[in-house]
Amino acid sequence: MPRPIQATIHTAALRHNIERLRAAAPGARLWAIVKANAYGHGIDRAFEGLRGADGFAMLDLNEAQRVRDLGWRGPILLLEGVFEPRDLEICSRLQLSHVVHHDDQIDWLAMHKTHSPQSVFLKLNSGMNRLGFTPERYRAAYARLGALPQVDEISHMTHFSDADLDDGITKPWARFQRATEGLPGERSVCNSAATLRYGSQPDIRGDWVRPGVAAYGGSPDFPQHDAAHWGLLPTMTLSSKIIGINELAVGATVGYGSTFTADVPVRVGVVACGYADGYPRHAGTGTPVLVDGVRTRTLGRVSMDMLAVDLTPVPKARCGSEVTLWGQGPKGALLPIDEVAHAAGTIGYELMCALAVRVPTTVL
Ligand SMILES: *Cc1c(COP(=O)(O)O)cnc(C)c1O
Repeated sequence: MPRPIQATIHTAALRHNIERLRAAAPGARLWAIVKANAYGHGIDRAFEGLRGADGFAMLDLNEAQRVRDLGWRGPILLLEGVFEPRDLEICSRLQLSHVVHHDDQIDWLAMHKTHSPQSVFLKLNSGMNRLGFTPERYRAAYARLGALPQVDEISHMTHFSDADLDDGITKPWARFQRATEGLPGERSVCNSAATLRYGSQPDIRGDWVRPGVAAYGGSPDFPQHDAAHWGLLPTMTLSSKIIGINELAVGATVGYGSTFTADVPVRVGVVACGYADGYPRHAGTGTPVLVDGVRTRTLGRVSMDMLAVDLTPVPKARCGSEVTLWGQGPKGALLPIDEVAHAAGTIGYELMCALAVRVPTTVL
């Protein structure tokens, strides 16, 4: 028997989340964001659940190729645009739309030989100071692009740094409005947090929304709101089994560094899951976990291949009992990935993306 750890990708939950996001932004078209190999789910594994979207957006040309190979003929958008001039040839061949955030990319387009003009998303730096033209330079970039025979459609986009905070988009939204006012072209500004919070406002939701983590059942603004608040379902489950049991007397410790000491007698389950599987090592004693669908807590340090759990609330647990590290447990029990991430001082995004390749993964 292989080591009992397993990941499961839930196609029905992906579909549910896409529908939920559509309802949150009625009338908008929706990019399914599949960067980072579909947030760790695997593009191939997530594709079926996401194909109800209107387009796929990612960073890498090979991810775009993958989506075309899976049979997708609709829109594809490269969110960081092209990295060198010859990438434009692949854009022409695969019919990819791409973000333009830098003057060099316009120079490359001007030199690109093609018979089929390309669709670009001109990106405004609305204050995040990562990618994009500043408001002062935005219209000049638009004019340059508009003069190129290599370009037919120019859409407008920006990315919010603080959409997960109350009043987090007021300033960048005003900058975007001012920079794009009166210019023809479609608009795309909303990530998950903005789609869920402002998708009902037609001017903000624009023509395309770009929800990433919410499609994968993560809450973009945890702990203020959890996934259940937003009506999202976990799309990735990490599960394993108990492979050892120890009865700790008072004063006994568990794991490296002896960071947990029993102050009452406690029954401890050893689980076949560790940081080499993608479980966060920074998750200390008390991180939530399900055993046979019953909520309990981890004890002590996470090792490379194992971690320990408190079996006090599950007295019937034994070797072979099912452990849910995050996602969908037995008997309808759920353990949001955001809670585990929060206990480890990170966000659900990072845990999804860090699922290790050694974990066998099935698609439901
Ligand atoms: C990753 C990304 C998104 C999605 O962000 P989430 O917070 O996961 O919804 C949207 N737009 C751009 C440009 C991105 O890079």
